Amino acid sequence: MSSDLLTAPDSTETVPPAGLLLAEGVRRLASGGAPAEVLLALLSLACQAAEAAEAGLLLVWDRAAGLLRPAAAAGYDLGRLAPLGLQLGEGLAGQVQETGLARWLAEPAEVAAAAAGWRPANRAALARARGDPALPASVLAAPLNAAGERLGVLQLESWRRPCAFTSADLAGAQSWADLAAVVLHSARLADQADAIRAAQTAERQRAELIATLSHELRMPLTAIKGYASALQLKEVDWSEAKSAEFLRLIEAECDNMQAMLKELLDSSLAAVDQLAMTPETVQLADLARHVAAEVQRGTRLHHLVVDFPPDFPVLECDPRWTLQVLRNLLDNAVKYAPQGGLIMLCGAVRPRDVVVSVSDQGIGIAAEDLIPLFEKYFRVKAAVGHHVPGAGLGLPIARHIVEAHGGRIWVESRPGEGTTVYFSLPRVGGGPAQEDLG
Ligand code: ATP
Ligand code: MG
Repeated sequence: MSSDLLTAPDSTETVPPAGLLLAEGVRRLASGGAPAEVLLALLSLACQAAEAAEAGLLLVWDRAAGLLRPAAAAGYDLGRLAPLGLQLGEGLAGQVQETGLARWLAEPAEVAAAAAGWRPANRAALARARGDPALPASVLAAPLNAAGERLGVLQLESWRRPCAFTSADLAGAQSWADLAAVVLHSARLADQADAIRAAQTAERQRAELIATLSHELRMPLTAIKGYASALQLKEVDWSEAKSAEFLRLIEAECDNMQAMLKELLDSSLAAVDQLAMTPETVQLADLARHVAAEVQRGTRLHHLVVDFPPDFPVLECDPRWTLQVLRNLLDNAVKYAPQGGLIMLCGAVRPRDVVVSVSDQGIGIAAEDLIPLFEKYFRVKAAVGHHVPGAGLGLPIARHIVEAHGGRIWVESRPGEGTTVYFSLPRVGGGPAQEDLG
């Protein structure tokens, strides 16, 4: 609706009866929409319903600032009205906000007396927005009350006619103010609901993060327990060098856990997709050999082979989290190949990225299970049938880490034959992406 001066209805113009206008207002309210639009529609209808009204304002109480602020205007330029902020008791609207009672000022002298209470900046803003420093001849204002709160004021003005409003107009204006109060009240409830939803989402993400990291902590713990148990085996007489190596590995795993716990604490407020990656220059082949040796120590059934080309480039990635990806994939390769077999950990170089693959000769994955594989808590029914323990978190975590580095992860598998999981990581200053080459 335009905010041009509303023309006073002349005697030839038929104004719809107040009841029809009110019904239209209720319909507008029920049909929803942005609160600002609904308020403007209600103000416009209120102006039509009170025959003498040529202009009007809807002012909303800003609790934090302790000011009435313009929310909708008819006959005023709302943009120019923006600086307006009326305190309690300031002008007629401020008085109505203070008392919570509808009032009208019939005579220009009364209007002038109330306007004398305006602070200069507000007086100037009103004159600018109206395009005329003159005051209205009569004014009527009704409070917006809802749920025991004063939410603002509806003000209707006749610019030319003194004694323009009747007591019926006052009652009518209160009905319009009540409708506007419903709009403001439900907007406030919607804001509160949004805030609650946002808090719930943050809480859920935090819980997921804790689940993720607790899961990650299990892995080094298992390794530590393995080395410690091995060292205590009475029947094995470990050489000094071997014992020292195991102790060094235990220490390294403890460092790993410490770093993860730090992450857990650091990110207690962060979402699961905000795990901090700290890129470093990494020789991925070395990482791969390290993790393969670690996994090999835990299995006699499987034979692990690492195959990286000599020209494999150094990468910029977070070594701790990249190690985690390799661990998760190798853990699966061992778990889902219960009969054992060959596990290949290979690296390949493409112009813009590198691709690492982990392949096993295990139970494989049916085509229909490949799509949800990277969803949290997803486990293939057949795998569960094999009584393989797992939480369904290893692959989603791996995907998250790979994607956080700007890479991709995908799977190829044949049931009964084996599975290969691939992931790519971008090269430092690499050429065009493989996909771009067509
Ligand atoms: P977690 O890794 O949390 O201990 P998980 O191994 O069940 O548990 P994911 O690593 O996310 O979870 O794997 C999800 C599912 O994908 C597994 O339950 C399994 O059914 C299937 N899967 C993953 N890797 C393989 C594989 N190499 N061979 C066959 N199935 C696999
Ligand atoms: Mg797993």
